Amino acid sequence: MEDISRESSDYWSSGNGSAYVPHSQGAANPDTGRRGRRIKSRLPDPTLPLLRHNVSDADWNDWKWQMRNRIRSVDELKQYLPVLEGKGRLEQVVKNYALAITPYYLSLIRDGDPRDPVFQMSVPAAEELDQVPGLEEDPLHEEKDMPVPGLTHRYPDRALIVMSEICPMYCRHCTRKRFVGIEESALPPERLARYVDYLRAHPEIKDVIISGGDPFSLSTPPLEKVLAALRTVPTLEIIRFGTRIPVVMPQRITAELTSTLEKYHPIWINTHFNHANEITPEAAAACDRLLRAGIPVNNQAVLLKGVNDQPETQLELCRALFRIRVRPYYLYQCDLTQGVEHFRTPVSRGIEIMEYLRGRLGGLAIPQYIVDAPHGGGKIPVGPSYLVSMSPTHTVLRNFEGVIVSYPEPGRRAERQPADGRRRGGVAGLTRGEANALVPGDAERILRRRSASQESARFRAERFQKKKDEARAVFSPPGPPEGAVAFSPARAVFSPPGPPEGAVASSPLDALKEAPDGAHLAPLPLGAGNGS
Ligand code: SF4
Repeated sequence: MEDISRESSDYWSSGNGSAYVPHSQGAANPDTGRRGRRIKSRLPDPTLPLLRHNVSDADWNDWKWQMRNRIRSVDELKQYLPVLEGKGRLEQVVKNYALAITPYYLSLIRDGDPRDPVFQMSVPAAEELDQVPGLEEDPLHEEKDMPVPGLTHRYPDRALIVMSEICPMYCRHCTRKRFVGIEESALPPERLARYVDYLRAHPEIKDVIISGGDPFSLSTPPLEKVLAALRTVPTLEIIRFGTRIPVVMPQRITAELTSTLEKYHPIWINTHFNHANEITPEAAAACDRLLRAGIPVNNQAVLLKGVNDQPETQLELCRALFRIRVRPYYLYQCDLTQGVEHFRTPVSRGIEIMEYLRGRLGGLAIPQYIVDAPHGGGKIPVGPSYLVSMSPTHTVLRNFEGVIVSYPEPGRRAERQPADGRRRGGVAGLTRGEANALVPGDAERILRRRSASQESARFRAERFQKKKDEARAVFSPPGPPEGAVAFSPARAVFSPPGPPEGAVASSPLDALKEAPDGAHLAPLPLGAGNGS
């Protein structure tokens, strides 16, 4: 096996970090209304104290320049984020857990504010040194499920491999912070050969995930060698990448990369946007390039305290992802990783968020909330419960509004009139079909539906009456001569039968007027059970 790392290692060495402006102070971008756009778009702006005027478009848009100019030290970072002055222990943090931030990603920090989500995800914090009981360096026990170093085989049909220990930006919340970036050196080249041998020996593995360190930190030729080697395994069907490149260094998604990836379809990508501020025009364009190459892009966000743990923040993220055609796929509960305690939220916060999202977003834009269980328990979907109760005849469910509905099982008859004549009412009544639903009195949608139904029933009735009048006008022949007996077949056909003798004729409009409130809403299935 050739050394797949050599070519790309040119791009890993950090430069002197001196050719860019990392943070986004100053006026909002006139196109987007946001701050934090590319430095060049703000030139010249004397309010930007750290402005560097020597970044050309060509450099800024070159991912190798971005890699070379990453910030790698606390001293360097302090030049751009004065708020870090006087903060202790950061050098120690960086000795334990690597620091790297691309100029692009640093430029997304707004006003150098430590509460900014991009700041929190990328800038080291002293809390990372806290040793918290119960947290682990390898909380998912990936290394225990590694039959070959670097290859985790946990689920029957999938394997995860690591091809690089390098990421353009080292996320402070990373589950693999135990090893990523500690030594930015190439992985042993024989690893790929061992992966291929294992995959050949395990034809049940259909899906390989190449995950972080970020696989797209490799340059394209060595990456293609990995893909070509994997494609020699005849039983392997899907190749997935786990990458944060579209978020932290979208310049890397070049035409050269996408045309290479295209050759090895089916390829899927899972990326990792955590906040709507990360969805910049550059990031959107990178995702668009991947999608145009036929590569589905899904998002795996991580729930992080202070970054995205508000329901509205998640809603905004999901909407923004959906707009750029990236499917919100997972929302992960933060793993029990040593050094990330300050990012952890209770699971209840995730449930609360999911409760909020359901109904406010279409199903395609709602991620699945996942706890990746400690001790290698794997991914477990959790969420609010929509199942209220069950009986052999009916399942009782609730929706996001609090409407509780009774779903009749096949072949079962509802006991609307129980034999003993005693109704149970409430949810117990729903379990035997006494009613269809319980609807909260203030459910916005039901109020809206009721007024819309009244409106459309009125419209239908008026239209019906108009048609009836028109039909009468067309088909009524001129009256017979006085004293003659008239017979008109057309009239016999088109005149609706009259009411029985003595009955009062009613039109749909009359029915609407006469019906008790809501009774005319026959197509509204939930209306029928409101009284339970
Ligand atoms: S990109 Fe992924 S692997 Fe790399 S530091 Fe971030 S979370 Fe960890």
